[in-house]
Amino acid sequence: MTPDLTVYWDDRMLDHEPPAGAFKYPDTPIVATPEVHPDRRERVENIRAMIDHAFGDVTETVSPSPASRDALERVHDPEYLDWLASFCADGGGRIEDTTTGMNEHSYDAARVAAGAAVEAAEAALGNRSSDDEPASGDGTDEDDGHALPYALCRPSGHHAQPDRADGFCFLNNAALAVEAALADDGPDRTAADRVAIVDWDVHHGNGTQETFYGRDDVLFVSAHNDHGSWHPEYHPQEGSVDEVGTDDGEGYTVNVPLPPGTGNRGYGAVFDRIVEPVVAEFDPDLVIVSAGQDAGPADMNGRNIVTRSGFRDLGGRVRRLADDTADGALALIQEGGYQPSHLSFATLGVFEGILDETVDLEQYGTEDPFEFLDEPTGLVDEWIDDAVERHREYWPVS
Ligand SMILES: [Zn+2]
Repeated sequence: MTPDLTVYWDDRMLDHEPPAGAFKYPDTPIVATPEVHPDRRERVENIRAMIDHAFGDVTETVSPSPASRDALERVHDPEYLDWLASFCADGGGRIEDTTTGMNEHSYDAARVAAGAAVEAAEAALGNRSSDDEPASGDGTDEDDGHALPYALCRPSGHHAQPDRADGFCFLNNAALAVEAALADDGPDRTAADRVAIVDWDVHHGNGTQETFYGRDDVLFVSAHNDHGSWHPEYHPQEGSVDEVGTDDGEGYTVNVPLPPGTGNRGYGAVFDRIVEPVVAEFDPDLVIVSAGQDAGPADMNGRNIVTRSGFRDLGGRVRRLADDTADGALALIQEGGYQPSHLSFATLGVFEGILDETVDLEQYGTEDPFEFLDEPTGLVDEWIDDAVERHREYWPVS
């Protein structure tokens, strides 16, 4: 029987360890005990435990090969890759004065994470249904021959730009997956011509945006907190509605900044009003999801309040979107999510959504320990109205 889910995972991704300090910042004498960096290994260990418990009987785990140098150079500058390898070989450390750092294993971990994303995208293309075959089924019972690919990447990728590390990211896993799908060298398939990236991580996927900013064959749609640029030189992207792409890419970057406190209803409205009509109009061959579950109420790097049920809704939406627009070709790639327990509940929600199945957790005392805040709905709607107004020039949004 074909499993419902293929998780691309290898223990080498646990070996990456950014420097401890005061939260994500350098050590300081006013904090007696340096804190483990928020990109801690427990994040993905908890997701692995959740998968085993909730979906272990319908999941296969595939150990990916590290992405090849050729694959990496589709996105990243050779000089940057050389620097990354040598910085890591020298033992790593914090990169300049940033919150991003490596240990001696980080480059290998990043290459394995990139390989996971590439293999997930290639598997997704293999899932495309032919004209006389329905798109992949409801994922609950029959053997429909399609396992949904989820690349459980650590470190994450969507802040990594072609020529530099940024925001805990070194290699842009989503961008590398897109380029692999567009390249005509995968096994037993034809390449994609057009790929849509849906990025629901609470942070703007600035590295992904940067990679495809001048191109019309890759659509980038991102809903995120309005955190803006976090450094004028190495992170100039704002994630604003006015960053729409340049040259051939004008209109193909669709940013939807959201106010603090945006929750399940707001994200649903973003998908109803912007993400779904824009992706449908773009008509991709493949949908890649930058799945960062750091829009939850307890996330120390986010300010939104999406719960497990909200992520279940988002998972179902991207599954249906891929079925309706891309013949079922869907790959999800892990981005952020930093509250270790919430990440497990939130990612469970994503899996429930893409597999159309709800897992009963009542015997454990709670279905979601993080569902306790109310959403400022009027404020959220005002911001979505602004985004619709800006993107109406290019897309059928209302
Ligand atoms: Zn994030």
